Amino acid sequence: MARNPRYDVLFEPVKIGPVTAPNRFYAVPHAAGMTNSMPNMRARFRETKAEGGWGVVCSGYVSIDPTSDDAPLPYATLWDEDDVRSHALMTEAVHRQGSLAGIELWHGGGSVMNRTSRVAPMSPSGTSWMATHVNFMGNQRPRAMDAHDIRQLLGWQKEAARKARRAGFDILYVYAGMGYLPYEFLLPEWNLRTDEYGGSVANRVRIIRQLLEVTHEAAGGQCAVALRMSLEELRARPSEVAESEAHEVVQLLSEVPDLWDVKLDSSPTDCSPSRFSAEGTHEPIIEFVKRITTKPVVGVGRFTSPDTMVGQIRRGVLDLIGGARPSIADPFLPRKIDEGREQDIRECIGCNICISSWHDGVPVRCTQNPTIGEEWRRGWHPERIARAGSAASVLIVGAGPSGLECALSLGRRGYEVNVAEAAEDIGGRLRFETRLPGLAAWGRVLDWRRAQLEKLSNVNIYRGNRLSAEEVLELGNTHVVIATGSRWARLLYSPLEIPVGLAEGPGVFTPDDIAAGVPIEGPVVVYDFDNYYMGGVLAEYLAKAGNAVSYVTPAGHASAWTIMSNEQPQVHRMLAANGIALRTLTRVVGFTPGEVTLANQFTNAETRQPCRSLVIVGARFSADSLHTELEARGAHLANAGIRSITRIGDALAPGAIVHAVYSGHRYAQELDADPRSIAYRRDAPLHRRGPAADVTEHMENPA
Ligand code: ADP
Ligand code: SF4
Repeated sequence: MARNPRYDVLFEPVKIGPVTAPNRFYAVPHAAGMTNSMPNMRARFRETKAEGGWGVVCSGYVSIDPTSDDAPLPYATLWDEDDVRSHALMTEAVHRQGSLAGIELWHGGGSVMNRTSRVAPMSPSGTSWMATHVNFMGNQRPRAMDAHDIRQLLGWQKEAARKARRAGFDILYVYAGMGYLPYEFLLPEWNLRTDEYGGSVANRVRIIRQLLEVTHEAAGGQCAVALRMSLEELRARPSEVAESEAHEVVQLLSEVPDLWDVKLDSSPTDCSPSRFSAEGTHEPIIEFVKRITTKPVVGVGRFTSPDTMVGQIRRGVLDLIGGARPSIADPFLPRKIDEGREQDIRECIGCNICISSWHDGVPVRCTQNPTIGEEWRRGWHPERIARAGSAASVLIVGAGPSGLECALSLGRRGYEVNVAEAAEDIGGRLRFETRLPGLAAWGRVLDWRRAQLEKLSNVNIYRGNRLSAEEVLELGNTHVVIATGSRWARLLYSPLEIPVGLAEGPGVFTPDDIAAGVPIEGPVVVYDFDNYYMGGVLAEYLAKAGNAVSYVTPAGHASAWTIMSNEQPQVHRMLAANGIALRTLTRVVGFTPGEVTLANQFTNAETRQPCRSLVIVGARFSADSLHTELEARGAHLANAGIRSITRIGDALAPGAIVHAVYSGHRYAQELDADPRSIAYRRDAPLHRRGPAADVTEHMENPA
């Protein structure tokens, strides 16, 4: 199909200093957990974005020196020639597809603990970032930088920029955002210096100007120099000479970089979840930049709609459409717009599972795109899949996220696929969950698969069909896939932090009851030791329905795991805004309709409070009885022509939607595959040809 002329502007080339981006699609720097320890995975992952039409594809954050060591978070390094070769794999791959490669050169300053290098960290004035976030929290405080350190920093940046050029990068970054070192100079709370680097805005900006200058020197007119800067905090600060300190900073540096990459200040605001914010929410903070500089500007906003992208360009907000999450959920987003197939875009749902991968220190995962991170080690591709290995037919029982992904991918391979779904509509858990507060965008998991399945004549979906084991045998498909989901349990929680002891009886409910429409009478206690979104979301849902709600958890925070997905700060605000009483470090130890007994997690001190309904959001178990019944049929299976019965998704092991989609996809990829191709390939760092960077050069007390 032809491209819609309305979107032509997105495919115009953009000059960035000495290089030219082939279009306006810019895959911004984002951590993908692969680091230099997985150079082949990283290269293929980034190449796939370039293949999908992103005109610029950037690295994640890359340390310029061992004084910036973010372990155990997954940071990359550019410290020696092995690192150069490691990154060169990516630049070669990106160039093969005709795109530019950018590198985010990074120094973490007072936000890193240097746990591996064990060099004392440093910051402008010895101020640390007292983060309570997992992996950021620590006991090591930075030392204040002296004039020698500042000269060293400029030297490290210049040397890393030279290495980056040797590695083949086209765009070299100075990174002054997100609490990292150059950003620390910008904020007076961090920067208490009395020399020419502290005090006035002009002084606080000086180090960034110098970093840009040395990077230009290293670039030698061959590479563009980009400045990535967080503007949220500065925008909120008044200036004596401009509308805000952000305006003043941009004015002072306006023409120094070849490209402005502008963003917000912390991961929860910069990469906010769809649960709490919509597409394009950066605009009120960053919209002024283009009015000050003549250089191109790139910014993000979880953009998946080409009309929104065109709007950003036409209204003079951005020149380049930045994408991190949209490029993960659909590496082929630009190409689909180019081919007039924008309805095929697999839109990011804003769940932030990808970001949780970074917090976990592992390769990136995505709810919408199960192939991400698997391009090299499993050979998966977001758009292509091997043809069917046999003429087998497959019966999939259950049309939740796992069953639907499995059906779609098997269908694309060419298998005859029959899907039986007990409910009147497909979607599984999504049928209910997308009606909960803030979760409507998660419906894209279902909507995209529904639309893609409609194009496949070899996939038949039978709604309103609850299959028994007998019926499965009668249907006589070659392979049977059990995708029947899971059930929440009425279990309590022991002081040993494991689910134990059934809480049965009137007034005790689980999320399955609420999904089934069972009436809930207030006052309600939502008891959450699942720790992901469900407990918090249900508390909000029940409060909005007019109930008095208390949220009780043995964890120290509400929805404790959501710190990984950037949701937690806003979960707490949501609970407060809805008048939901929060009881942390608390277990439910008894319930009779009318009263719940609570105990402190550590002291066991008991309290009681009125409660008519106890909603337990805790353990989940597979709803796999159909699988058990079929397995018990033994020889009858072969007589019915059934060669295999396999559980996928929650029916195999209950998890988040990301796990279900991955599980369904994996089954589809591996059906009839050569068993030798099923194990994933292990990546490894490139062989070291000598000692790593000489850390003694960077000791805190140089002679
Ligand atoms: P997952 O996340 O693994 O995809 P879900 O719980 O979202 O799991 O979906 C499971 C789906 O399976 C539900 O829509 C449910 O109605 C359906 N289901 C469960 N048992 C049967 C059955 N015996 N026959 C047909 N469909 C079933
Ligand atoms: Fe978007 Fe979720 Fe995928 Fe991240 S994991 S790219 S937020 S769909």
